[in-house]
Amino acid sequence: LLEVSGLRKSYGDRVVLDDIALTVAPHDVVCLIGASGSGKSTLLRCLNLLEEIDDGVIRFEGREISDPLVDPREVRKQIGMVFQAYNLFPHLSVLDNCTLAPRRVHGISQSAAEAQARELLTRFGLGEHIDQHPDRLSGGQQQRAALVRALCTRPQVLLLDEITAALDPELVGEVLEIVRAEAAAGMTMVLATHEMAFAREVATKVCFLDQGRILEQGPPAEIFSDPREERTRQFLRRVL
Ligand code: ATP
Ligand code: MG
Repeated sequence: LLEVSGLRKSYGDRVVLDDIALTVAPHDVVCLIGASGSGKSTLLRCLNLLEEIDDGVIRFEGREISDPLVDPREVRKQIGMVFQAYNLFPHLSVLDNCTLAPRRVHGISQSAAEAQARELLTRFGLGEHIDQHPDRLSGGQQQRAALVRALCTRPQVLLLDEITAALDPELVGEVLEIVRAEAAAGMTMVLATHEMAFAREVATKVCFLDQGRILEQGPPAEIFSDPREERTRQFLRRVL
């Protein structure tokens, strides 16, 4: 579904991603792990064409989306992204947050967009908050609403960048519950996370990033129990 090869990205003369090769198959849940500054967010942003890359190729459904002639907005219709925090439009109700892109970008009718948003918001425990503004919601509820908003555009791939990192520990579970449900439903996802237990549980593939390179990747059982690289071992010893 997504295929990255030889990706390099620098800021100025600083190389932050180097020779990245990554394949994401349909229904994969790829977890990016690694120390702060290792390049996880930058990689996700590259996949969504929020960053220009210096070298390499990104293919989505076989099409070379890293080609400068490709319209990023077309790609982002199919590759959704949720960030660490401050996702929701503060001046819109939860419902309007969730229907805006489906109506404006995807041309779905108001009634169909609302029906879908209500269904998803209710399913994920936000039924009582549909007409409220984001500032009336807890951090966990806001992040759940942000996930629902992304799901309402029916993306082919969902990119999640540390979506629980800004939350109080007791709110993390309710957000991960949605990711878990979507994984079980077959949603293809690439997520950067510091939640190792969750990565181990939900990932089909784990990629360990170290100084802008994918040092090793493989099934979670392998990476977490028997990593090949000493640097992966060191990282896991520190965080587990
Ligand atoms: P964290 O776990 O803290 O979120 P990360 O793995 O997501 O870290 P990135 O945010 O991708 O790391 O950053 C990778 C490197 O690129 C870092 O050294 C960072 O300082 C640098 N970087 C990121 N964004 C920019 C930018 N807009 N301009 C210059 N340097 C940047
Ligand atoms: Mg990051």
